[in-house]
This record gives sequence, C-alpha cells and structure tokens, in this order.
Amino acid sequence: MKRKFLSLALVLFCVSVAFGQNKEKTKAPSSYKNTEFHADYKPSYKNDGSDKPIKNVILMIGDGMGLAQATAGMYANHNALTITNLKNIGLVKTFSLSDFITDSAASGTAYATGKKTKNGCVGVDSLGNKFPNMTEILSPLGYATGIVTTDKITGATPSAFYAHQIKRNMTKEILEDLVDTKALFVAGSSVKVFEKDGTGKLDDLKKKKFKVLHDYKKLSSSMKAEKIALICDNTNAQFISEGRDPNYLKETTAQAIKFLSNKSNKGFFLMVEGAQIDWASHNNAIENVVREVLDFDKAVEEALRFADKNGETLVIITADHETGGMALREGNIKKGKIKARFATGGHSPIMVPVYAYGPQAQNFRGVQDNTEIFAKILSALQVKK
Ligand SMILES: [Zn+2]
Repeated sequence: MKRKFLSLALVLFCVSVAFGQNKEKTKAPSSYKNTEFHADYKPSYKNDGSDKPIKNVILMIGDGMGLAQATAGMYANHNALTITNLKNIGLVKTFSLSDFITDSAASGTAYATGKKTKNGCVGVDSLGNKFPNMTEILSPLGYATGIVTTDKITGATPSAFYAHQIKRNMTKEILEDLVDTKALFVAGSSVKVFEKDGTGKLDDLKKKKFKVLHDYKKLSSSMKAEKIALICDNTNAQFISEGRDPNYLKETTAQAIKFLSNKSNKGFFLMVEGAQIDWASHNNAIENVVREVLDFDKAVEEALRFADKNGETLVIITADHETGGMALREGNIKKGKIKARFATGGHSPIMVPVYAYGPQAQNFRGVQDNTEIFAKILSALQVKK
C-alpha cells in the first residue's frame, strides 16, 4: 500500500514538473533589472494634512497597483519613489456588491459615485439606475473636470467617471455617454475605438465644442480651447515596452492640470489613471509592472508640484484593486533588480494603499471602504451630496 502510494506520488511529481516546465516557457521572466531610474520628487509638505480649505482635487488611480507593485517600483528605482514620500497613508477595501474580488468597473464606480455596484456595471446599479458621478456632481457647481488615462477612453476606470452602462463592454453606448460628458478635458485612446464603435462620434464631440486632438504634444498650444478631447492612436494604450511614449502620461497630466486650473475660479477635479499596471500584473510580467509604476510615479510628481505651488489642492493616489496577488521574493536595491511571483492572473481582494497629499490629506488615514474615498473628496470640497 505504502509502495503504491509512493509510486503514485512519484508519477504525480513528474507530471507536475513536466507541466511546470511547459508553463515556464510561456511565462514572462520572474525578475527584472531596471535601467531607467528617475529622481523622486520630495514635496514641501507645507499645508500637508492641515485643515485649510481646498479648491482642487487630483485623484490618481494606479489600476491594479497594490503594495507589492509600489514596493517593486520603489526598490527597482534605487529605493526612491515620489508616491512613497507621502505621509498621509491609509488602506482601502475594494470588494464589490456582487463579488469578493472587484473588477475595475465596480471599483471605478465606487470612487466616481460613492456607490457599490456589481462587477461589470459602470456608473449604474444592476438594474441600470444611474448614479451621478464626480464630473456630473461637480461641473454644475462650477468646477472644471477632467479625465486622463493610459487606457482606451472607454476603459472601465475612465468610463466610470462619465458613463452609465450596465456592462463595461458596451463600447458604443459608452461613447454616446462620452459625447454628453460634463468633463472639459478627456484624454485616452483610441481613434480605432471610434472607427469600430463610434462612427461620427468624433464629429459629435466637435459639435459639443471639444477641440479634438490626436497628439499630446499639441496640448500646450491648445490651452485656449473651450474643451479638449485628446484621442490618441492605439500606442498610447500599450505598455511603454511596446511603444507608448514615456512622456504621454506625465505631460498630459501636467497639461490637463494647466488647462483645468485656468478654466474655473471655483476649482477643478481631475482623475488620472495609470492603466497598464493592471495589464502588466494580469500578465504576471515584472518588467512591465516596474516600468508602468515608474511611469505613473512621474505623473504623480506633476500633480504634487502643482499642489505645492497652488496650496489649495488635494492629491489622492490609490488603486482600484490589486492585480496578480503579487509577492516579492528577492531584490538588489543597488542594481535596481527585483524578483516577483504571482498568485493569480486575475485580481486579488487584498486592501490597496491610499496616499494623500495637501490640506485635508489626513482624512484618508486608516482603513476605509472604496466608497468612502468619494465621500471624503466631496466633504474636503465642502460639497454636499
Ligand atoms: Zn484588471
């Protein structure tokens, strides 16, 4: 009996090794040595965590950026990250109404509307009832609002801030919602999405007084436009390693801030998404995780520099969920090397960090639900729901 058991165990072991090796071949490498280091920005901390009133909010969502992703970026960048220089830090619970593990649609909806919904729903409950979102609540009050992403503009996270559809893949309907958006500045990809699911929608945006651009480098000369829709080609919804311009997110964030801050005396709300951290983690690809976190960190620097100059701006950096169940195994800070292992190709339920900077940043400390982030932003702006 014992012998039988041992030979069965041996067979199982051999099979698992064989399968393991097969799987290994298709897997991304488990370690990465960074070669593109950037200096972290150390903010002034003046007004940080004070009770002073604020006018502007910049909400930055690193899609899928859990603590392991941020840690990987930090150590791979010689132990320095602008994000991790912040002092008002909390944790966010991300579960959705239907699932222990959320998707970006439900978590984006929680941040944008303060309401829990089912996975797949964008800005609505499971019956299709609309929840008013941040851009719809703040725009009529005189705030200039904007959305920037490294995803398609119809991706679940950006759409949660302007659309109301029962399924995140209802691209045609989401594009119809985009035409009606209250946001004055939208940036994402791609022209192809419009060609496939929104013929004529670029013209409709123009009719709604959007200046439609396709190159972020044209933003700086378009600051006089009433509204801007930057609809890039597909490359700006790819990994940096696959061709996305490494200046796109950083520069578009800076230009969005400039544009919105000149548009209203009341203040502005801007959502910026680093979308590719999620896809890199889905692929269990450590190189892309590190490079996308570092890219996002440079956009965070733009927001913090503005907050330091302005003094009435609250910056919040968080994630909609963790992706990959990422664990770090070994690293070398001097060499910028990091080795990781992933528990899943999907999302995980682990709490995500939230880092806040500026007046009212102290309100984001502690453990909170994702819907509370929405409530805390409105309360910091002294806006009643
Ligand atoms: Zn995802």
